[in-house]
Amino acid sequence: MPRLTVVVPAYNEVAVLETFHARLTQVMGPLPLEWNVLYVDDGSRDATWALIEELVARDPRTTALKLSRNFGKEAALTAGLDHVDADAAVVIDADLQDPPELIPTLIERWQEGFDVVYATRTARAGETRLKRLTAALFYRSMEQLSDTRVPRDTGDFRLLSRRALDALRQLRERQRFMKGLFTWIGYRQTAVYYLREPRQAGTTKWNYWRLINLAIEGITSFSNAPLKLATWIGILSSIAAFLFALWTFGKAIVFGNPVHGYPSLMVVILFLGGIQLLALGVIGEYLGRSYTESKQRPLYFVEEQRPPRPRAP
Ligand code: UDP
Ligand code: MG
Repeated sequence: MPRLTVVVPAYNEVAVLETFHARLTQVMGPLPLEWNVLYVDDGSRDATWALIEELVARDPRTTALKLSRNFGKEAALTAGLDHVDADAAVVIDADLQDPPELIPTLIERWQEGFDVVYATRTARAGETRLKRLTAALFYRSMEQLSDTRVPRDTGDFRLLSRRALDALRQLRERQRFMKGLFTWIGYRQTAVYYLREPRQAGTTKWNYWRLINLAIEGITSFSNAPLKLATWIGILSSIAAFLFALWTFGKAIVFGNPVHGYPSLMVVILFLGGIQLLALGVIGEYLGRSYTESKQRPLYFVEEQRPPRPRAP
């Protein structure tokens, strides 16, 4: 029988985890495969770990990792996927926004021979119009800027085959934009569509600040376009400045040189100053990323494991 592990990152999810586990068990129970669930406690500050330990004690199909602090969802996911030794893994959020009922469909596609089966939402219930708009904007610009086609309206909810997991395990970059990495590895990928539900309980860990940072992360880890953009703005503004200089000199030669032009001078200085700062910012963004990368720090630390096991390589 094929073996499957369901990886669930959880950060302060005590309000919903019990319900999640019940629904997951209900869905997975009848399936003709050997399965287990791996909860990754991403340094929760509430009783999440205690609840997970309780689930482990109650249900032998439950395993768990506790990270040494909050490393963020991308690292929690990585930790979980690193510890999967089954034939495939499903990545799912704990808050029931990704319906566990979709897992059988993901498995079907996997058994047809796909390596990455991702779940794409057709509607976003319970999300504000602003969030939808910014999400749409992000996916569109990613498509424009990067060669890696990150599928639209797709979260981390997906199934990964053994070879996809092995490929992913080799990508140890610190700046982890998982959605991009999942796509980047290639192999046979396909989509399954579903309705995204509002969060069942607990609160979202994402705010606009985190989302903006994730978007910057996504663009800078999968595209050098902003660097080129800086170059292009530089070239265009130099051409504009040159034409402006010709025009000013021409005017001075034809009409003499009365002392005015303070406003135009100010405009040019401010404009160029702005562009220079922008370009520096863009370069700094990439430089900062290579700095983090060059430190070669581990992506996470595991504090505890349930059931206790020798650590995976
Ligand atoms: N999560 C995590 N570490 C974090 C933030 C979130 O492991 O630092 C988990 C969280 O417990 C949940 C999933 O990532 O299972 C998605 O988080 P959330 O529902 O807050 O994000 P949203 O669905 O609003 O994008
Ligand atoms: Mg959520």
